[in-house]
Amino acid sequence: MPLDIFQLLCYIKDMKNDTLKFGEPNAKLKKLAKKLKLKLKTFSLPSGWTCPGAKDCLSKADRVTGKITDGPDTLFRCFAASGEARSPALRKMVWHNFDLIKSTLMSAWRYKKDKVQTLADLIHDSLPECDIVRVHVGGDYFNKEYLKAWIEVAMRNPDMVFYSYSKSLIMMADVARPNNFVLTASRGGKYDDMIDLHGWKEAVVVYSEEEAKEKGLEIDHDDEHAAFGSENFALLIHGTQPKGSAASQALSRIKKQKKKPQVLQQDLSSYELNVM
Ligand code: SF4
Repeated sequence: MPLDIFQLLCYIKDMKNDTLKFGEPNAKLKKLAKKLKLKLKTFSLPSGWTCPGAKDCLSKADRVTGKITDGPDTLFRCFAASGEARSPALRKMVWHNFDLIKSTLMSAWRYKKDKVQTLADLIHDSLPECDIVRVHVGGDYFNKEYLKAWIEVAMRNPDMVFYSYSKSLIMMADVARPNNFVLTASRGGKYDDMIDLHGWKEAVVVYSEEEAKEKGLEIDHDDEHAAFGSENFALLIHGTQPKGSAASQALSRIKKQKKKPQVLQQDLSSYELNVM
């Protein structure tokens, strides 16, 4: 029997919902894509809800209301969770991805299919046309099958780069990763000891440029260290931080410093005047 227009629209809607949704890069990632003249896309899951290794950063936005809840050990609030709190559209997208991944794993289990390959098929078939994927602006590898599925996708797409920060380090130790699956261990989680044990490249959140200098770390401003670097690096605290916390005080200091007139620039311009 031929489909009527209503059935056809429902069918198209279902088809659309059968794929994972990828996002566009934010300003910071756009810088990187522009610099490298490459196309970058992002992929996210619900922050906090899918992060079994999160500790210092743990925050979750409620799926319906967006209300944010910090974890028991939160020192600085997850940037992506704050984004979800503000944006119902973002919440819809990340929960769509998580629901679809869970139902795919469940259906593979029910029909006795290989879970990793089935999930890899879903991710692979959903991939947008691009050169680099930042896996998880929000969210993390929430179980080993999901991690292995992304590794399989990286192996199927050797010309693309898949990079991520992760605190799910307990899952990484005995899993072989291809070169185009680039991992940065994110310090401040439950499994920090594994970073020292395995000597993995790590990112550390710092509260000031001085702190980064003291630790001998460069600050990554556009994710280039994360996607292509091999050295440890720092990330300057940003986002929205809990009121009264050390992170929020550090953030105010950073903002104030940015507003200050640039002494160095003044010195240089007076130098130019002198030589002219
Ligand atoms: S692990 Fe990442 S996404 Fe998860 S709560 Fe921490 S900062 Fe947010």
